[in-house]
Amino acid sequence: MAHDITPPADETGFDQVLQFTVPGRDARGRVVRLGPVLDLILSAHAYPTPVRNLLAEALVVAALIGSLLKDDDGQLTMQAQTQDGVIDLLVCDYRAGELRGHVRFDRARLDELGPTPSLHALFGDGYLAMTFDMASTNQRYQGIVPLEGESIAQACESYFFQSEQVPTLIRVAIDCEQGASSLASGLLLQHLPEGEEGRERLHARLDHPHWQHIAVMGGSVRDSELLDPALGLESLIWRLFHEEQEVRVERGAALVRGCRCTVEHYTTLLARFSPEDRADMMDEDGLIQIDCAFCSRQFPIAMD
Ligand SMILES: [Zn+2]
Repeated sequence: MAHDITPPADETGFDQVLQFTVPGRDARGRVVRLGPVLDLILSAHAYPTPVRNLLAEALVVAALIGSLLKDDDGQLTMQAQTQDGVIDLLVCDYRAGELRGHVRFDRARLDELGPTPSLHALFGDGYLAMTFDMASTNQRYQGIVPLEGESIAQACESYFFQSEQVPTLIRVAIDCEQGASSLASGLLLQHLPEGEEGRERLHARLDHPHWQHIAVMGGSVRDSELLDPALGLESLIWRLFHEEQEVRVERGAALVRGCRCTVEHYTTLLARFSPEDRADMMDEDGLIQIDCAFCSRQFPIAMD
């Protein structure tokens, strides 16, 4: 497993997940703030600003939702696809704090959309496949999220309520202009009435008084607060929920840019192909060139 060296999480909460619960309201939440890790991920690509913003949002959402996995080595993969969208493919994944992502898009059509294209302009009738891989049990579960609404975050809110029966609020703030340090931050809140976590929930209600209260408090968070380096994540939580009787806060995963592209990994993958198939893949030097789209790097692999 390859890791890039990233600075340790600091007081401002960059590249860090903070998890919290509000027991009196049966609510749980996550806050993440991406800084240097986001720059590292984006630096592998020369994306225009709308695509940088989109990938930054997807990475924040992946970290928020991925960090809900109880399985520490579980992986969340989000893959957006469209039939005829300007964005052809968006992939990002989260595993134990490791984040990575990339986007494939039509440059000419994107340029026609201007600096702040809508979600529908980018994806058309697209959808997001969310795959949860549980390492400990080898179970895999997939949810399909129609890319509707104003943002990936909003599409995921609808998904959690409609498909998982979990009232969910997600807020994401992005500051990802070209040529400056990138910042992206997000808040996730969910209502899980007592004892119902993990069971079939037939009576999810958006109008439960506890959820309404928490959603109003959490929904009041401003982009400027999410992105303010002077406001630590824990301080942010206290600011939003200081009227609650009890808020339990716990530091979650440190976030790093992680990818699986190593010579060993590709050698193992290629070993599953027949010698004939491998011969077809070889270039004139007898090497198989593998591209890692996440890192924009090419790996020449020599096979026996
Ligand atoms: Zn890679």
